Amino acid sequence: MWSSTANLAADARALFLPAACASCRSAPAAGGGLCADCAAALAALRPLLATPLHPAPPVVAAGPYAGALAEALNEYKERARRELAPALGALLGRALAAVAPEVPGAVLVPIPPTRAARRARGFDHVAAACARIPGPAAPLRPCLRALPRPDSVGLSPRRRALAAKRSLRVAARPAAALAAAGRPVVLVDDVVTTGATLAAAAAALRAAGLQVPAAIAIAAA
Ligand SMILES: [Zn+2]
Repeated sequence: MWSSTANLAADARALFLPAACASCRSAPAAGGGLCADCAAALAALRPLLATPLHPAPPVVAAGPYAGALAEALNEYKERARRELAPALGALLGRALAAVAPEVPGAVLVPIPPTRAARRARGFDHVAAACARIPGPAAPLRPCLRALPRPDSVGLSPRRRALAAKRSLRVAARPAAALAAAGRPVVLVDDVVTTGATLAAAAAALRAAGLQVPAAIAIAAA
């Protein structure tokens, strides 16, 4: 269906205007999807140890899920603003730097999106942020696969844990190679809330013979 003339004018204008900052949505975005103030707010965050409800491996998050970080993460996930991957990857890099000395030789295993979420976004947002961790980061070894799962919103913590457990599968061959090489796994997720997903992922990888001493996240809710 064609847009009305007014909509078309607005759409055309949006094409030529610089995108608004993904975080404050008022200032125009500089490179990387953020205005200078919001980029500075993200750069000022300090990693923190998350304390999820579930006994997940220790989780270091780049910052609390609030303010500029929460806004940027939502735009990245829900509106597929892929230009934010370097800024979010830089944050993951700081969380990784906090755990890296404790886990020499570690590889990064991102929590995978479900097929439906990946299709909706058009990309694997956690793996894409991992790929933009600056410097000689730990290598990325995506050896978890997501199975279809019900939306966990509104589920009790126990049911949420069960749904998380049933939603992940370990890719046998890459996992066996990591286990044979004795390389520990650092799990990576976008937001850690109850820790159910990280706990389920760690359990699945441990059952496949891997060590999972730590996890990192972009934000802790
Ligand atoms: Zn901004």
